[in-house]
Amino acid sequence: MSPVYFDHNATTPLSPTALKSLQDSLVEFGNPSSIHTFGRGPKKILRDLRELLAQTLGCHGVEICLTSCASEANTSILQTAWRWGRENQRNEIITSTVEHPSVAKTIEQFEIDFLESHGAVVHRLAPLRDGTFPIEKLKALLGEKTALVSIMAANNETGTVFPFHKIAKLAKAAGALVHMDGVQLLGKIPFSFKNWEGDYLSLSAHKFYSLKGLGAAIIRRGSPWDSLIRGGPQERQRRAGTENVQAAASWVGSLIEWREKAEKNLVLLAQLRDHFEARVMEEIPDVEIPCASAPRIPNTSSLIIAGIQGETLLMSLDLKGFAVGTGAACSSGRPEPSATLLGFGLTRAEAESSLRVSFGWFNQLAEVDAFVDTLKTVVSRLRNLNPKYLRSQLANTPQEEVLID
Ligand code: PLP
Repeated sequence: MSPVYFDHNATTPLSPTALKSLQDSLVEFGNPSSIHTFGRGPKKILRDLRELLAQTLGCHGVEICLTSCASEANTSILQTAWRWGRENQRNEIITSTVEHPSVAKTIEQFEIDFLESHGAVVHRLAPLRDGTFPIEKLKALLGEKTALVSIMAANNETGTVFPFHKIAKLAKAAGALVHMDGVQLLGKIPFSFKNWEGDYLSLSAHKFYSLKGLGAAIIRRGSPWDSLIRGGPQERQRRAGTENVQAAASWVGSLIEWREKAEKNLVLLAQLRDHFEARVMEEIPDVEIPCASAPRIPNTSSLIIAGIQGETLLMSLDLKGFAVGTGAACSSGRPEPSATLLGFGLTRAEAESSLRVSFGWFNQLAEVDAFVDTLKTVVSRLRNLNPKYLRSQLANTPQEEVLID
């Protein structure tokens, strides 16, 4: 069997329609801003992308500002909101403990830079271990000093979906700006920008079966905007720089595919995940899925497997032909446990024993079965090499005490 990819929250393969659309676009070398013949093809690709994104998201084409990635969109949005807050005597930001680093680190920098000059205050709400969002705490924190509420739609590591309609409604009622990192939402749950009350949504093409190097900030009409990259008049003067036409063409393809197969794909993802979790819980002892009962995107399973080291498990599975995740993809290679899992209240030991499996549109049930068979063997072998786990089995120690050191 060729290697199987179960790490779709890190990035996705190109969908066949995205690949075809990309291939067709390769002859379009013109600058989309050029008014001569060569600019027309690229310009049409960007227009098609805006149209499809607008239809898919329920927003207006002019609300879409293309960027180089979601990290850039997040940074631009946060900088805008923080500047707006300072000008409006609002110096508080409410975020969560489980945001992607592009949000968490940008906010951390505001805190450092503006602590003295503007009394910057950052409130970081921690979801419960089971994924529940602390909505009552949010209510208590909101007030006339709140500049921005920035809470992601769905978490990349656990797959938990936060109550984004309620969050936006409450934050808008307090007069704050609202940002939502929607990177893990697109293609995983239905969403309408029109029916959501927030100001900004960020997206990434490569998490949606398209090329890397393209993201988008969806900016509600009337909400403030500061350009992070200044220069040319692209994107209605909101983001300078020639657009990534080829990535845009691939995104057009994957959006067309999604339009045709959304329902089927969502059912498939949930089937794969549910089958995987049912078999694991039935056949592998000492495994926990902390967020199992929380609202979740249908493709993600985050497990704590007692007695194993996530990194070692990942490498062993890779050797057997299965690509999975442990912690955030962006921070893999770093020995530190995932800050996101710690943000969900997991202990360091639990975070280090975690495994993330994220399924995609092109996975099959047979691959999941083969994976569980392999996982069983590998986990058993690694546990047999872990004296602490073996001792705990003999002594029948409670599970929480036998996680890796
Ligand atoms: N936000 C979330 C939730 C993510 O999962 C990621 C990528 O892992 C990003 C933002 C960053 O996306 P990009 O790679 O397009 O900058």
